[in-house]
Amino acid sequence: MKATIVLIEDNERNRYLTTFLLEKYDYKVYQAVDGQSGIEMVRQLQPDLILLDIQLPGMDGYAVARELTRNQGPRNIPIVAVTSYAMPGDRERVLDSGCIGYIEKPINPATFVQEIEQYLSAHGDQECAQEH
Ligand code: MN
Repeated sequence: MKATIVLIEDNERNRYLTTFLLEKYDYKVYQAVDGQSGIEMVRQLQPDLILLDIQLPGMDGYAVARELTRNQGPRNIPIVAVTSYAMPGDRERVLDSGCIGYIEKPINPATFVQEIEQYLSAHGDQECAQEH
């Protein structure tokens, strides 16, 4: 079975496109529309990867990433930010908050799934194989 991904994104069109692309490649995608419900979902599902929008209502993506990495469960679940921020320093801020990387919006449908696969294979594949 392909990897399980929790997508935390408040924009409906982005949720739709991201999920559509990943499901086409047999990933199992669970959607959360804000940070708090995303954190709950991650704790319950222990997914293989978290895709995290930075601009979220209420708790922003930086806070979500900090919370998730501060209270990690038994697994070190990789968090990848998906954001339209492209100011100098934003990348560092994303990485400082606990994300392993950064995909720029608007996402490129031609390369998006490949990018996700690279993050997945670089992080904890052996561990996933044991657990699933
Ligand atoms: Mn957003």
